[in-house]
Amino acid sequence: MAEVDVNKVVRQHAEMEGFFTGFVLRGKSVALDDSAPAAAVASANASSSVPTGAPNPPSAIRDPQSSATDAAAELEAIAGETRQCRKCQLGSTRTKCVPGEGHPRARIMFVGEAPGADEDAQGRPFVGRAGQLLDKIIAACGLRREEVFIGNILKCRPPENREPRPDEIINCLPYLQRQIEIIQPDVIVALGGHAAKTLLNTVKPIGQLRGQFQEYYGGIGRPPIKLMATFHPAYLLRNYSEQNRRYVWEDMKKVLTELGLPVPDRNKGG
Ligand code: SF4
Repeated sequence: MAEVDVNKVVRQHAEMEGFFTGFVLRGKSVALDDSAPAAAVASANASSSVPTGAPNPPSAIRDPQSSATDAAAELEAIAGETRQCRKCQLGSTRTKCVPGEGHPRARIMFVGEAPGADEDAQGRPFVGRAGQLLDKIIAACGLRREEVFIGNILKCRPPENREPRPDEIINCLPYLQRQIEIIQPDVIVALGGHAAKTLLNTVKPIGQLRGQFQEYYGGIGRPPIKLMATFHPAYLLRNYSEQNRRYVWEDMKKVLTELGLPVPDRNKGG
């Protein structure tokens, strides 16, 4: 088993705390109550300080005051299908399927490559160390995990975290495509080269794809969806340079700007 460099892990953790939590929002604080459901929070934010008749402030959730029950039910139906799925060999090696989770009307959808060991054990996406970093990136954006949707290209973990195989992607991708169709995000954030290349149907490396909006095509007759590719949090943890973190933050700032959401300033004291 590979030896863990404890000092490196601790140093990364401290840097992560510093870089992805030291932000303040311009103007009004958007601090949210942890106990409130995301939809309720969005609804409350939309209505609490806005005079009647005034346009709603930008939200991470599309149409936050309307019911998302139908979309939630459709997403749950897909999740149920994936949990029964045996279309590829990963169906027999997984512990738990990881369909994805989040708000049915999220305007931002994060898509990674495949579940890892922690995700496989819990049946939830991005819950290991990379997931903790993603949570910090989301928080640094002034958002909550419950306000976005998080999923993967593959719903089941490849053994030993090996790369997804073409037949696995071909079999599994329709589930994600249907989730995108239901959620209709304004922006997809592809985490890492595999997710970006699969969604964009390209062989270009992540270094060429990130930093500018690309377009995801969901099929004939469907409008393209803006896609921002950025580094996978797991890559960031392995290559924890100031420059890589800046690249990710620059990518996320473009996403927030595109959505008309407040862009936090770096807190000089943080
Ligand atoms: S990875 Fe996808 S296609 Fe393969 S068994 Fe799991 S849900 Fe089915």
